[in-house]
Amino acid sequence: MAYLNDNYLKLQAGYLFPEIARRVREFCDANPDAAKRVIRCGIGDVTEPLPSAVIAAMHRAVDELSVRETFRGYGHEQGLESLRATIAQQDYRDRGIEIAPDEIFVSEGSKSDCGYILDVLGDRNRIAITDPVYPAYVDTNVMAGHTGGAGESGRYEGITYLPCRPANHFVPEPPNEPVDIIYLCFPNNPTGAVASREQLGRWVEYARKHGAIILFDAAYEAYISDPAIPHSIYEIPGAQECAVEFRSFSKNGGFTGVRCGFTVMPKALLARASDGRRLPLHSLWHRRWSTKANSVGYPVQRGAEAVYSAEGKSQVRHLIDHYMGNASILRQAAQRAGLCVYGGVNAPYIWVETPAGLTSWQMFDRMLRELNVVVTPGSGFGACGEGFFRISAFNSRENAEEVGRRLGNL
Ligand SMILES: *Cc1c(COP(=O)(O)O)cnc(C)c1O
Repeated sequence: MAYLNDNYLKLQAGYLFPEIARRVREFCDANPDAAKRVIRCGIGDVTEPLPSAVIAAMHRAVDELSVRETFRGYGHEQGLESLRATIAQQDYRDRGIEIAPDEIFVSEGSKSDCGYILDVLGDRNRIAITDPVYPAYVDTNVMAGHTGGAGESGRYEGITYLPCRPANHFVPEPPNEPVDIIYLCFPNNPTGAVASREQLGRWVEYARKHGAIILFDAAYEAYISDPAIPHSIYEIPGAQECAVEFRSFSKNGGFTGVRCGFTVMPKALLARASDGRRLPLHSLWHRRWSTKANSVGYPVQRGAEAVYSAEGKSQVRHLIDHYMGNASILRQAAQRAGLCVYGGVNAPYIWVETPAGLTSWQMFDRMLRELNVVVTPGSGFGACGEGFFRISAFNSRENAEEVGRRLGNL
């Protein structure tokens, strides 16, 4: 009989969102009247339709494919040249960062990229991950066999956890011990925290000193409102020698269902071979893409390109303003309810301390029962998320206002 990948058996059962869905279903079945009032502020998925500039570009692309003269088959394996040139120009060069189009790899989203990157990294790396965290970073390392089993707290052996708490404003300092791979995500999901230039500077300094690589997830950069906060890790001098950046069109253009993102792999980034040579990761990453993938659907890439048009940018701005307007309503309502609130200023997530020593799941149940509002229990994001819950601002204005009112009854 064939063998399976035993590493999958180490994964923690009862993944967060299925468990939330189960509890909501159970509540709704038992309380059909309250069920009609339930508002979901749980999963971090956008709610508003795509910008019309994106829709028009995707329609045009489909029409091109319908005519022999303009039909296209396989494209460049790294993604459309024009899209990569636009990304390099607008996301980087316009901000004074020298990134070339061939350092950009267009993909079907950054969740996948966060897993794929392990293809080109070795098995002996010491991995550092923030706690609480977006679960994909941890689970992909478990699947790849980079960890031992999970302990009682749900933490895996072999991972260096970086606690994110109110005391460090949810931005960890580099550890005292050497690590090789560091996952950072700012603005952060789930805490809504952002990292300052100085804080990121200390991580870049650490990475350069230890020959470590920072995997920087910037999926929420469009939500930054504070002009002092970096949008890209490459705003820190020297970061091109030690950081890979993941970007996504999911949370700015609303592409969660369309699927498109990209990785920036600078050619200056080196990693060590087993024989001690220091080689660019770029050539391995390029090889990985040309061997295992053929980039992303043509209409999708044209849609992504439209995000950078003048019209697209103003429509995306409008979407972000909508969600951040919700965040502000929810944040203030939670504060008025006497809760201790973080985030929600440069990120669409509000991270709230549970009152009266309730656990995250106890608070989840209370919010569901008393307010008919679904939140995400912080403990689902890691041991240090215990005692917190996350409210997502991805919703209609009407729902955000209603949740704001209900918070007053807490
Ligand atoms: C939503 C999100 C992403 C984007 O994932 P896609 O696969 O591009 O949709 C990436 N990182 C984090 C932390 C997210 O919350």
